[in-house]
Amino acid sequence: AKFVFRFSEGDKDQKDLLGGKGANLAEMTKIGLPVPPGFTITTEACRAYMRDGHVPPELRVEVTMAIREIEDTLGRRLGDFHEPLLVSVRSGAKFSMPGMMETVLNVGLNDASVKGLAEFSGDERFAWDSYRRLIQMFGKTVLDIDGELFAEALEAKKGAVGAATDVDLSAEDLKALVETYKQVVREECGREFPQHPREQLDMAIEAVFGSWNTERARLYRRRERIPNDLGTAVNVVTMVFGNLGETSGTGVAFTRDPSTGHSGVYGDYLANAQGEDVVAGIRNTLTLAELEGLDARSYGELMQAMRRLETHYRDLCDIEFTIERGKLWLLQTRVGKRTAGAAFRVATQLVDENLITMNEAISRVSGAQLSQLLFPQFDGEADRTLLTRAMAASPGAAVGEIVLDNAQALERTGAGAKVILVRRETNPDDLQGMIVADGVLTSRGGKTSHAAVVARGMGRTAVVGAEEVDVDRGAGEVRVAGRTLHAGDVIALDGTTGEVFLGEVPVVDSPVMRYIAEGLDAGLAACGDDAMRELVLAVDRILTHADAVRRMRVRANADTAADARRARERGAEGIGLCRTEHQFLGERRELVEAVVLAGSDDERGAALEALLPRQRQDFTELLEAMDSLPTTIRLIDPPLHEFLPDLTELAVKVAVAKERGQVEPRDVALLEAVSRMHEANPMLGLRGVRLGLKIPGLFALQIRAIAEATVARRQAGGDPRPEIMVPLVGSVRELQIVREEAEAILAEVGEAAGTVLDLPIGCMIELPRAALTAHRIAEEADFFSFGTNDLTQTTWGFSRDDVEGAFFADYLENGVLTISPFETLDGDGVGALVVAGVTGGRQTKPNLHIGVCGEHGGDPESIRFFHTAGLDYVSCSPFRVPVARLEAGRAAA
Ligand code: ADP
Ligand code: MG
Ligand code: MG
Repeated sequence: AKFVFRFSEGDKDQKDLLGGKGANLAEMTKIGLPVPPGFTITTEACRAYMRDGHVPPELRVEVTMAIREIEDTLGRRLGDFHEPLLVSVRSGAKFSMPGMMETVLNVGLNDASVKGLAEFSGDERFAWDSYRRLIQMFGKTVLDIDGELFAEALEAKKGAVGAATDVDLSAEDLKALVETYKQVVREECGREFPQHPREQLDMAIEAVFGSWNTERARLYRRRERIPNDLGTAVNVVTMVFGNLGETSGTGVAFTRDPSTGHSGVYGDYLANAQGEDVVAGIRNTLTLAELEGLDARSYGELMQAMRRLETHYRDLCDIEFTIERGKLWLLQTRVGKRTAGAAFRVATQLVDENLITMNEAISRVSGAQLSQLLFPQFDGEADRTLLTRAMAASPGAAVGEIVLDNAQALERTGAGAKVILVRRETNPDDLQGMIVADGVLTSRGGKTSHAAVVARGMGRTAVVGAEEVDVDRGAGEVRVAGRTLHAGDVIALDGTTGEVFLGEVPVVDSPVMRYIAEGLDAGLAACGDDAMRELVLAVDRILTHADAVRRMRVRANADTAADARRARERGAEGIGLCRTEHQFLGERRELVEAVVLAGSDDERGAALEALLPRQRQDFTELLEAMDSLPTTIRLIDPPLHEFLPDLTELAVKVAVAKERGQVEPRDVALLEAVSRMHEANPMLGLRGVRLGLKIPGLFALQIRAIAEATVARRQAGGDPRPEIMVPLVGSVRELQIVREEAEAILAEVGEAAGTVLDLPIGCMIELPRAALTAHRIAEEADFFSFGTNDLTQTTWGFSRDDVEGAFFADYLENGVLTISPFETLDGDGVGALVVAGVTGGRQTKPNLHIGVCGEHGGDPESIRFFHTAGLDYVSCSPFRVPVARLEAGRAAA
């Protein structure tokens, strides 16, 4: 392979091979902007280095040739004692990893060439300053010497000669400092600072390769989900000098304001400075307007270069530049990072300036950015006391009293208080507390823990894995940061940053959310300033366009009429999943328990009888809220144990009672029944359609309730559109049995009401067997909905509730997973089953309506997959509906 590319050989689309920095340096060279001559060593060379443990031998030859070319062009030799060529050796991976990897400037300086540099530049001070910078950077990054040792020596020198800043040091001072630095190298490494320019270059290149795998770089990549095996490119760039006196300097700039998106130029400049001095804040910087006063010509050139970059990249760019004695050089550019708000404003501004189309504009923003704009935020101006910082699991800003369990949560919210549920970790038993709480804080678990997943689904703010928080439920205490808090004490959670504050922190509403929920006028009215109004208008334009171009419809997962209304406000075009088991919590749980454990048909019949009117009421309200929109109701699904008393607890209770001779016959019977039905693997046990087939009358009750609710809504003049969905089907026969029963009930209820109830009956595809036999199942199904949560569990054989804490961290570290498959669909595995299911289903029924419900329906990357797989809709939590609309539009644009 070819390991070295001259800047004149590459372009911006080669980021995989040349890294971001290298690809953009090549692009700027290509379009004629002033970039110092140089070349890029590919990421492939880095990968070879990581694989073999040494730099590939061919690389040395290629570097020699590339250096020679520069030398010949400029008529200068690397590290020569006369007019030396110096270079920088700069890391640059595909994805920018700010501050993670290393750069060495002034490579090629040694005891001889420093004199050549002094002579050639006519500036002795500058030459020695460059040399001491080389030893400092090289010592730190290549030789692994603690940077503090150099910083201390510099400070000591400044102190000794009474210099306020480093520019006040004279050539003599710097010369002495170089000696001190060399001594540091000697003491720390037991060797001399390498004098040979080529040795310096080779060592620096290897050090940049090595910096890819430092602890902090790995950590950063894990957090940002950047794969570990990409490797970094290395850029070797002819040095240009911003530290050659007052007509030189260095700066950074944006082609437009990165926070508002307004066109114009924004940047900082520092005269007589090199490299990182501008951002390091060592001296006060000048604005670009002030640069114009200093050097109008360079300023003019800079403006021209920036305009060129904007029209060429058709996006906001940021740059690094250096002026060497009145000559402008560009050292870096990239499409600039921006806040979520700026992303929307910049995108629409570029449309207005005819630089991009609306389709491109929607590709310039992301669902993740939109969701950031929707959450209320803490007022950054307010005083706050930080308690701890942990994983930001579900965004938002929540303030409330600490509660430690469901009972406290219900009691305090019943009294009108806002509460934060604080738990070591959560499990399905905590659901009620989570429903009423404004936020959830756990001391254990990660982004896919129960607390995190459920909170995201419900749109609750959550911070998880706060290890410094010690939750002592027995003592009723929460200990953190040296304080002991109790139930009732107020805390505040920032689910966007993971911060936890003590006491009340004021929250400001998001005007973008107001716009989503109440329309453009309300959104605009909620804006405090013009920038905000501009943002709301930009979001409106982009979402409107996304709605116009997307093929997939967006539905919401909603269990109650209130949730359904909220989803509808946010643009949901139906309900893709109404989980009926949530309707069996609380007091109704006992009725279900009775149905399940009934000793006789009569007993069971009575319990079902009692449930019917309640269910009918649930569905009537739901169908009213979703009038004229498809409403998919899933028949009861959860594993049995969620409805039954805990076996261990019950056994203990009965044993204790026996001891005292006060045992209740009912408890004994219950214990017997619960033991009989106890399952070792409830998630793989009696649930879904299996439960429906096993327990007579349970599905029938629900189907009857749906049918009667439909009749009631029609009689009230409504347009109800329920769809009956059967969970956990693995065989066509299961669906056939339910279907026969359902059709009989629909016919009977319809006839009695003088109407025809031909409601669609379909099923979830959430078992591999269902996906693989989809062509058979489709014979009995009017629609499919992929349950990708269960499909992921059953495809991987992972139990979502267990694997997270057990080994996900290891799997992310060693690269088995790059992201949790419960967050983003595993396209290769689970995705293949989705495709098989779609293909099979439509083989039997070409127009089979197919959607997806479950976490992945709201995940940007997964939405793209579902679009490509040919799905008709995605269904996600109400809060994610706008995000899904945008992402479905982006997928289609
Ligand atoms: P980072 O990715 O951390 O910004 P860079 O490789 O861009 O690291 O370099 C660090 C600093 O050194 C930047 O300010 C850059 O502009 C400056 N620099 C890099 N190469 C040169 C060069 N050849 N001449 C002058 N300054 C340079
Ligand atoms: Mg840089
Ligand atoms: Mg399921």
